[in-house]
Amino acid sequence: MRVLSGMRPSGKLHIGHLSVLSNWLKLQEENECFFFVADWHALTTAFDETASIRVNTREMLADWLAVGIDPERSTVFVQSQVLEHAELLLLFSMITPLSWLERVPTYKDQVQQLAARGKDIATYGFLGYPLLQAADILIYRADAVPVGQDQLPHLELCREVARRFNHLYKPVFPEPQALLADTALLPGVDGRKMSKSYGNEISLGAARETVEKRVRMMITDPGRIRKNDPGNPEICNVYTYQTLYNRDLVDEITVACREGRIGCVACKARLAESLNAYLEPIRQRRAEILAEPGYLDDVMAHGQEKAAAAARETMRRVRQAVQI
Ligand code: SF4
Repeated sequence: MRVLSGMRPSGKLHIGHLSVLSNWLKLQEENECFFFVADWHALTTAFDETASIRVNTREMLADWLAVGIDPERSTVFVQSQVLEHAELLLLFSMITPLSWLERVPTYKDQVQQLAARGKDIATYGFLGYPLLQAADILIYRADAVPVGQDQLPHLELCREVARRFNHLYKPVFPEPQALLADTALLPGVDGRKMSKSYGNEISLGAARETVEKRVRMMITDPGRIRKNDPGNPEICNVYTYQTLYNRDLVDEITVACREGRIGCVACKARLAESLNAYLEPIRQRRAEILAEPGYLDDVMAHGQEKAAAAARETMRRVRQAVQI
């Protein structure tokens, strides 16, 4: 299958992103994958804060490559470097009824949420971003797209646009299927959603000491005052991480916590150790990538070449179908 997925350039990624990236690694094993940095999408909500987009793109790419996304095996590229996305978006905008975009469930919610924070994103570009997503997918005639449950309405819009185009002109586009991914959210160290804006994240490239410090900040069972008070792992953030990064020790930790035989300080130390062991190869690879002059530029140029070749072929078929 040809599979497409992208991320907005949010800069350094954190361990909360590992569920998505692990899924990409699995997909990469068996499919022809296109992974792209959605920098135009960043403009839909941050059109007035563009200074960091290029830096963030590089930081994010370094993380993708450090976890094992292989630019030889997959096509890794930056959206704005393949202009055919914009041409297809323009043609789709001619055939897409406004009501299809207005009914996308997240649209009104997000406009209202951001308006409450003083940001006006009731723009043409923001209304149209699901259509840009459709162009991103269909320009590669992708068969499948990994999505979370909340993105299904966007993919359905994409499928509707493909159907409408095929019906109006000629069958050019497949209707991409959803690959529903299990991307369970890992909470940040304070228990809220993990996010750089809350300062509660653990970056993939974080130094050993930073990981240790962040783990020490984690919320535990608030009912545990003394070291030998019996604890409840089910309400402990550290425990959530232990189930992912200390699988072999989870049973032992569960019993020891419930019986008050392990203190939270020791429990956190074990987590920090495992987390650091897990992140060490990623951290090293990331540092090597960033230290090699021109490496990321080469990856982007190579990806642009491969992506543009596929996109040009689609546009050849599209222009022929539309007779333009
Ligand atoms: S011992 Fe571990 S699992 Fe139990 S409350 Fe403390 S940090 Fe959480």
